Amino acid sequence: MDSVHIELAVIEMNLIQKALNFGAGVLDVAFPSSCVSCGGMVDGAPLPHVCDRCFSKIHIVEDPRCLTCGYPFFGEVESHTDCQHCSRLNPRFYRGWSISLFRGPIRDLVYALKYENARWALDDLSRVAEYAEGLGDYLEDAILVPVPLHARKLRERGYNQSELIVREIGKRFNCETAINLLKRTIDTPSQTQFNRKERYRNLRNAFSIEPNVAVESKKRYILVDDVFTTGSTLNACASVLRKEGVKQVDVLTIGHG
Ligand SMILES: [Zn+2]
Ligand SMILES: [Zn+2]
Repeated sequence: MDSVHIELAVIEMNLIQKALNFGAGVLDVAFPSSCVSCGGMVDGAPLPHVCDRCFSKIHIVEDPRCLTCGYPFFGEVESHTDCQHCSRLNPRFYRGWSISLFRGPIRDLVYALKYENARWALDDLSRVAEYAEGLGDYLEDAILVPVPLHARKLRERGYNQSELIVREIGKRFNCETAINLLKRTIDTPSQTQFNRKERYRNLRNAFSIEPNVAVESKKRYILVDDVFTTGSTLNACASVLRKEGVKQVDVLTIGHG
């Protein structure tokens, strides 16, 4: 094949690819999608991308729960309000709410959103939020703030999943949002291999307020992230808002790790 023919063949391949992509888009609408967890058929209810069997595995957190991170207390409830996850956290935020446990379909939906740019997962996640009794009251009159990504990471990934979650939850629960309030100034290394003290040191100065953005210190802010693991990132963000004089900073996560 000479170069002209090779070029024509490439153009043809591109056209076929485009036609296939278009077809896939049409198919998505015409036929039910598959379950994000097991790949089985989904009929669209109660969630558009989770089958009935997998939906029953979602653990929505209910009372009694830890008031700091939202982790459920199983079995015996003692008089304390903090759980083992955050008894040593020294939280700079007041209250924390985790919608669900970070496992099964919830983890699959968040990973699809975070690592595969699956925007369709947002609809499922915000519908799950509607099952969390009392969440509407918790969000009332608050301003939702996403945990920011560093500019380099944002360029790499192309989007901040926490921001997408804030926009989606904000729409569903009719909340005010402050998308560009916080800025990640230091590109901290992945926190998983560090102990608590090292994490704290890494994150201490990693966040700031975006210049030219006003903080309304009398308002209540809720920091939003996909998952609560150690709480140290959320804590560092809360510190920044508290230093600006914000009286009440709370936290919301989709799942508790
Ligand atoms: Zn399934
Ligand atoms: Zn806790």
